Amino acid sequence: MAQDTTLATSNTAAAATFGMQPTSHMFLAEYKNGSWSSGQLQDFHKITLSPFALCFHYGQTIFEGMKAFRMADGRLNIFRPDKHHGRINASLSRMQMPELPKELFMNGITGVVQADKDWFEKDSEHALYLRPIVIASEERLGVKVSEEYLFIVMASPAGKYFVNPVKAKVETTYTRACEGGTGAAKCGGNYGAAFYPAHLARLQGFDQVIWTDGTHHEYIEEAGAMNLMFVVDGTLMTPELSGTILDGITRNSMLTLAAKNGLKTDVRKISVTDLEKWFKEGKRIEAFGAGTAAVVAPIKMIDIKGNKYSPYIGDDAIMFTLKKALNDIKYGLGKDEWGWNYIL
Ligand code: PLP
Repeated sequence: MAQDTTLATSNTAAAATFGMQPTSHMFLAEYKNGSWSSGQLQDFHKITLSPFALCFHYGQTIFEGMKAFRMADGRLNIFRPDKHHGRINASLSRMQMPELPKELFMNGITGVVQADKDWFEKDSEHALYLRPIVIASEERLGVKVSEEYLFIVMASPAGKYFVNPVKAKVETTYTRACEGGTGAAKCGGNYGAAFYPAHLARLQGFDQVIWTDGTHHEYIEEAGAMNLMFVVDGTLMTPELSGTILDGITRNSMLTLAAKNGLKTDVRKISVTDLEKWFKEGKRIEAFGAGTAAVVAPIKMIDIKGNKYSPYIGDDAIMFTLKKALNDIKYGLGKDEWGWNYIL
């Protein structure tokens, strides 16, 4: 197996091979002279860009990550595209890039899903991972905002992710994002800057870095390509959206589902000191990453400044109940009360 250098660090072969296989089609639209073209569904192909294209130089690249599912009754569904559209536009706006009209975004994702419906069968999860991106394509070396962009939607069979529970280290040296920075945007730079600390953590035997705030390294933020959630004595807790973490759609869905199922939820600042105290007090703590790729990535060990703690990962953990409830909605096995499924 190739060494896993993915950011969504995992200890499974499936995640190491995630996203290697494109499906047959892609969607491409161009932004020029102040407006987006209507875009076209095309056979998947490589694109040609001048080395002068601004995306190679000053970081105007953003992306989304979302999934489409073949439901139990055979229909295809894209999960929460409205929210992904809102988020891609928030990322675009933060990076001074032109927002995508809803219709164009929807045409892109639905076009690829419809055209590649046979690919759902090639994956054990009957799901496709969809990857919309926007990149600066103007050919110019000067430091400037690009006046031309490409919007591309590509897809890959989703596969299973994070089958095994992970070991995570609370990071107290490096910072992913600071207040006023780009932490809440899905821009390429956030991920590029995270690779080196993730590499160091891997050398120390960890699968994942738990980021903390950039000022004091005291408040828990998120992990790799996942939001962090905890169940502490039956209450689902997660860091608030402070502007430094991504407004994760899995996080949001889990909070909604938990409240609906009578679970207490607490969106707050979570300090490393509190977390360590709760472990020492012997509270039952579940810790997991929440994200589109894995849905739930259970954490079996957390290292806090060299002290190792073991969150609960038993089969009856609440995180697995929430994961099942969420998956049931996606596959059409549970009631879609909030209209999250966009059925084609
Ligand atoms: N945090 C980061 C940095 C991510 O890249 C992702 C993945 O998109 C998440 C959190 C989880 O977000 P979502 O649940 O929308 O996939």
